Amino acid sequence: MIVNYPELAVKELIDEVLNSYSLKYSDTCKCERCRNDIMALALNNLPAKYVVTDHGRIYTKAIYDQIGGKAQVIAAITAAIQKVQKNPRH
Ligand SMILES: [Zn+2]
Repeated sequence: MIVNYPELAVKELIDEVLNSYSLKYSDTCKCERCRNDIMALALNNLPAKYVVTDHGRIYTKAIYDQIGGKAQVIAAITAAIQKVQKNPRH
C-alpha cells in the first residue's frame, strides 16, 4: 500500500484545527465542501512524502517526524482555513 504522509497528517488534524479555529471565529463554515477545500489546499502547500507500507497501522508520531513536525501541518491547515473562509465555494 502506498500512502502520502502529509495526507494522513492532515486527515488526522483537520477536525482539531478546524474546531479550535471556529472557537475564535464563530462564523467559520465546517460543511463538507469547505472541509474538503481546506484539506486540498493544505495538501497542496505541504511537500508530498510517499511511502510504501506493508502493515495498515502507521504511527502518527513517526509521520510527523518524517514530514518536519506537527506544527508545520497545523500551520498549513490554518492558512488553508483562512483562505477558504474568505472565498467559500459551498
Ligand atoms: Zn461551507
